[in-house]
Amino acid sequence: MASSGRGRLAGKNAVITGAAGGIGLETSILFAKEGANVLMTDISQEALDKALAKVKQLVPNAGRLETKRCDVSKEADVQASVEHLDSWGGLDVIFNNAGIMHARDDDALNTPEEIWDLTHNINVKGVWFGCKHAVLALRRNKKARGSIINTASVVALVGSATPQLAYTASKGAVLALTRELAIVHAREGFRFNSLCPAPLNTPLLQDWLGDDAAKRHRREVHFPTGRFGEAIEQAQAVVFLASDESSFVNGSDFVVDGGMSKAYVTPEGPAAAPPV
Ligand code: NAD
Repeated sequence: MASSGRGRLAGKNAVITGAAGGIGLETSILFAKEGANVLMTDISQEALDKALAKVKQLVPNAGRLETKRCDVSKEADVQASVEHLDSWGGLDVIFNNAGIMHARDDDALNTPEEIWDLTHNINVKGVWFGCKHAVLALRRNKKARGSIINTASVVALVGSATPQLAYTASKGAVLALTRELAIVHAREGFRFNSLCPAPLNTPLLQDWLGDDAAKRHRREVHFPTGRFGEAIEQAQAVVFLASDESSFVNGSDFVVDGGMSKAYVTPEGPAAAPPV
């Protein structure tokens, strides 16, 4: 089946990890709308089945759209996902997005070692495997261009007073490895960028966000805009980074946070806005 032939990603073959929920699912929907052929991967096949049905419902004229179970901490899984696209003409884009923030990573001194290792195996090693196999596939299929987008976080840019040390360290590593790969592979035409989202109201953060009063407090204290971001706002940035519109964007920490990481003091509320 050919892609729809239209859109900002027309004809591009993409792998998305962690595609069954949150940012990965919104990005799958938008990629399909923009004409990409998409392989949605996730650790949960059951969740993928539901996600695929949703994408098909929202984008009935999508191009090629498939799912594949993939635990990003297992190199053989990542390799198989990327190689699956060889029969489509080869990978053009990978969005290394799967990540976890474990509830037991809430005490900087006492984060259990197994939680540190689990977090790094998924958040860092999983991204490295995705980058490695993407480069091998781009070379194998003789691609003159390729876009690799890795999900980091604003916590890689600014310190967090709510400890999540293994998570924070893992996202810092994503920025560092992305920058190095961006430089190393620039002359092959392969671009590497990190996406740095601010906290969103997706399943990943439900424990952290707590009850409604806690959510309201966090919005007021942390967010210049006074609201959480939406997963679709991350997906829109990923489409840009995946498309040829961003052909000179390489090695960036692409921040999509409503200004959160730039705030010294946030406004107190709607009263702080000038009258219209
Ligand atoms: P989410 O929990 O909604 O989705 C993450 C997906 O990854 C899930 O579908 C889950 O099944 C999958 N997954 C978990 N472990 C996996 C593994 N080993 N292999 C493959 N898939 C696996 O989370 P989200 O909010 O959409 O987060 C996506 C990315 O964005 C993560 O890397 C996260 O760290 C990052 N991020 C999220 C926020 C936020 O506020 N939600 C903020 C900054 C960064």
